[in-house]
Amino acid sequence: MLRALWLPGEWRLYSRSRRIRGATSAALVALALILAGTVSAAPVASPANAADVILTSAKIYTVNKAQPWAEAVAVKDGKIVAVGKSSEVLKLRGAKTTVVDAHGHLALPGFGDTHVHFMEGSLTLLGVKLDDAKTIADIQKSVKEYAASHPGDGWIQGMGWQYDAFGETALPDKRYLDDIVSDRPVFLRCFDGHTSWANSKALQMAGIDHNTPDPENGKIVRDAQGNATGALKESASGLVERVVPKPTRKERLKALEAGLQEARSHGVVRIHSAGGDFEYFDLFDELRKQGQLTARFYISYFLDPPGLTPEIISSIENARATYHDEWLSGGAVKTMLDGVVESHTAAMLTPYADDPTIKGKMFWEPAQYQATVTELDKRGFQIFTHAIGDAAVRLALDSYEAMQKANTTKDARPRIEHIETITAEDIPRFGKLGVIPSMQPLHAYPDADTSQVWLKAAGTEREPRAFAWQSIAHGGGELAFGSDWPVVTISPWPGVQTAVTRQTSDGKPAGGFVPAQRLTLEQAIEAYTMGAAYAGKRERTEGSVVSGKLADLIVLDQDLFQIDPHKIDQTQVLLTMVGGKIVYQSDKWTASAAKGGK
Ligand SMILES: [Zn+2]
Repeated sequence: MLRALWLPGEWRLYSRSRRIRGATSAALVALALILAGTVSAAPVASPANAADVILTSAKIYTVNKAQPWAEAVAVKDGKIVAVGKSSEVLKLRGAKTTVVDAHGHLALPGFGDTHVHFMEGSLTLLGVKLDDAKTIADIQKSVKEYAASHPGDGWIQGMGWQYDAFGETALPDKRYLDDIVSDRPVFLRCFDGHTSWANSKALQMAGIDHNTPDPENGKIVRDAQGNATGALKESASGLVERVVPKPTRKERLKALEAGLQEARSHGVVRIHSAGGDFEYFDLFDELRKQGQLTARFYISYFLDPPGLTPEIISSIENARATYHDEWLSGGAVKTMLDGVVESHTAAMLTPYADDPTIKGKMFWEPAQYQATVTELDKRGFQIFTHAIGDAAVRLALDSYEAMQKANTTKDARPRIEHIETITAEDIPRFGKLGVIPSMQPLHAYPDADTSQVWLKAAGTEREPRAFAWQSIAHGGGELAFGSDWPVVTISPWPGVQTAVTRQTSDGKPAGGFVPAQRLTLEQAIEAYTMGAAYAGKRERTEGSVVSGKLADLIVLDQDLFQIDPHKIDQTQVLLTMVGGKIVYQSDKWTASAAKGGK
């Protein structure tokens, strides 16, 4: 399905926002407290020892090798205080303890997502929804409906169209939008954020005409007469973005609330931001102060070449000094070495299979990149480098190796994001150098985009090492998984399914897409939990169900260990707990709890 990434340009939303679905977290907590407490047994613990919450009668996969399975967990002051059999853990029940009966459902540590563009994703929740639009007609229908329900002359924005909707050319054209809306600007981003699509009105407002030159690292797609077609590649999108009205602070907060609801409803409790959020630390902080933050955030600064200035360094230092607790923290830097395979912008060691004249190119001058990561590491900042082509992955590994020789930083854990292609020689270097492979399994979903566009470009030579999770893990790399939302859904469940099957939901291709790279279910869960915690240096307090760790837990509607793996993507989260507070319960769960049954 997908393709990674994001460009420096931020996503901006249409000024009129949509109704936010779902209740506030405060209301959810209140509801939880009403519904919980259905287990009847006399309190046994003294008030001083009593747990605040006990989750009982669950089938808990703890991701703790010393005690992989348990039935119950007790929570006090936001932390786990006991894990074990229901009968034992219930001894911590006091008069005020909330007891939640899981009725035998599978429970897991709360999931992490190590690669998210949270603000951008949240803003998309307020625009035209295109995720399910497969054809030009579908897209036109969604735009038309959105325009009708958001009248006026404001911008219409959206994200999520896919290249294969446009057949052979794989590129959109302004006329499809002009046919539907000609009197107001329409601007739609591709699901991968690398190409955008404007109607004539938007092009005109952006001042894009015959004479507009292509910006650096971007392309205005033109017809035979030299007129812009409405498709804008990479940085050319910025020509339109700069004239789009910016969302207000209030709109951003509203978007974040919707984004948090989206995350908790899928069981995501820890997020590593890979760009687009650093400027909004204060908004996250405001939500935290209001008790609305239902996920923990580790937010990186997005660094473009040519790199560091004293101002940039002090702003990253300030973020780290201001935000450094279990809810909100800074001190990481994200940068991008290359683009993506589909558009031939990922940097390869040898030419693309479908175009021998192209190898892609680095966004950074290599020596400058190496000097920059060395400088960042010296200051103790963790580095996230986007690298998708095998040449970019090589350069990141080489630079990290040189950086480790130059510095004495302990436990630096530099990361490479995506790693869609890699040479055989580079695979064991993750384990050897302690570089974290931060990967997004749903990007390997083997639909037409992967098997036709991606694979045609990457070529059969690279295929055995496409999204090489198992090889990298085998070589000692500590996998950390995420989504890349809004490129794909923030729900981890389609990702878990893809990690385990490397097939589509209907079982294609028959043998799996490079089946040797499949993971076991345990490995996949670990990459989203302990792996994510390790990738953010929080494995001592997060990532598994162990006494002393933060009480971040989820309860699922189906037992992943028992079902057909092709149905994992249908998993619904019944309950999400963060820091001992129940922040989400599905309708299904509250309905059954109200009846006192399962
Ligand atoms: Zn990304």
